[in-house]
Amino acid sequence: MMIELRQAALTYQSPEGETEALRDITFDMEEGEFLSIVGPSGCGKSTLLSLIAGLERPDRGLVAVDGEAVTAPSPKVGFMPQRDQLFEWRSIWSNVTLGLQVTRRNDPARQARVRQLLERYGLADFAGKRPSQLSGGMRQRCALIRTLAADPCILLLDEPFSALDYQTRLSVSADIHHIIRQEHKTALLVTHDISEAIALSDRVAVLSKRPAVVRSVHQLGPLRTLSPMERRGAPEFQEFFNLIWKELDVNG
Ligand code: ADP
Ligand code: MG
Repeated sequence: MMIELRQAALTYQSPEGETEALRDITFDMEEGEFLSIVGPSGCGKSTLLSLIAGLERPDRGLVAVDGEAVTAPSPKVGFMPQRDQLFEWRSIWSNVTLGLQVTRRNDPARQARVRQLLERYGLADFAGKRPSQLSGGMRQRCALIRTLAADPCILLLDEPFSALDYQTRLSVSADIHHIIRQEHKTALLVTHDISEAIALSDRVAVLSKRPAVVRSVHQLGPLRTLSPMERRGAPEFQEFFNLIWKELDVNG
């Protein structure tokens, strides 16, 4: 298994008191799989990604990546945040290679790989530009390429499209879906958008309100072979939407 969680639980301790974020999280992901996680706002979705990224430790239960219990951040796991976090005073090139510079792995072979990614995904001509000279969609692709530069096997995406307007969001999420498939990554996407989850993933896990437990996991079977845009037009799409909508405890 590429990702394995067994009854993982986490309670935050702070001077103001305790917040039980995750109560019982159990699921697996196979290599190359795309899983989306939906759940009410504040239920513990980002916390769940922090566990897999090795930024937080569970109080109980197991969190493992590629067969090993997670104890610290690992280069196997790439994290793509909600905001693209590109630095305006740096060029696109210097932004997408930032991770390599920081971890002192900015060698010619890795640079060549980044150049290839920029070319393949239509950004080569923008390497010398500043982030503000790019569209929102291009910036998101840069953020993804920066994450891919370190060649992680797992991508964690925390509501990566929420800053984009609806039209851009549709096309960028389809783009990014394509890139993740093409690069053979295992991807875990957190989103509050049920349609996005159904359009992009192989399975959708629904979390309860806080403290989170996994309420259900939906296998998207017949939709999996279709592109995100084709899925949105397929008759099964609405059926899955209704099913997941009922499970999702949006009213608390
Ligand atoms: P989501 O991403 O689903 O919106 P989060 O995982 O960010 O939810 O947060 C879950 C709960 O844990 C929230 O009540 C939040 O306020 C709390 N929380 C998140 N991070 C911390 C922290 N570092 N310290 C204390 N409480 C936190
Ligand atoms: Mg969050």
